Amino acid sequence: MSSCSVLVNREYRLPASYIPKNLVEPSIPFDAPAGDPKRLLRKDAAKAVHALFQRAKSCQITLWGVSGYRPYSRQEELYKAALKKENLTADSPPEELCKLLVAPPGASEHQTGLALDVSCPDVAFDLVEEFAETQAGKWLKAYAPLYGFVIRYPKGKEAVTGYAYEPWHIRYVSKSLALYLSLTGLTLEEYHRI
Ligand SMILES: [Zn+2]
Repeated sequence: MSSCSVLVNREYRLPASYIPKNLVEPSIPFDAPAGDPKRLLRKDAAKAVHALFQRAKSCQITLWGVSGYRPYSRQEELYKAALKKENLTADSPPEELCKLLVAPPGASEHQTGLALDVSCPDVAFDLVEEFAETQAGKWLKAYAPLYGFVIRYPKGKEAVTGYAYEPWHIRYVSKSLALYLSLTGLTLEEYHRI
């Protein structure tokens, strides 16, 4: 669980008791109030994201962090609210549940402290598909692997990852693995299956 290549998804879930060690706040701009746990990441990921955002700045690209670490209990609240809103239950067909942009508790990478949702002013810091078409979104896709991150839920891989396309969700996996995944086009699921 502590490895930065850990696989967390609908199939491989984290226990409710799992809280990563070494959660720290990266020095990057955040669209979340001071003191919010959303601003935390695991130390290795925090260091890498700081370097990534510094590079963005030097390329005149403005990126903001939106949501990093999320405890199990918070994920549970969000999931219940999302199900209710869509009139679904935890036993609804997987295709329907996949369309929800909220993971079930234990199935969210945000609980690992290795994932961060990123946005930019052009889409008003929203987490929307249009982010992919912005200059910042395109830059992020190209540069994230150089700093150890992958766009974790790519377009066309929804059936493999179990999640809808999320161009804003980056996941720290280490520089060598991120480069490998970006060169091969493999998802973390496919990598773990090899
Ligand atoms: Zn996310």
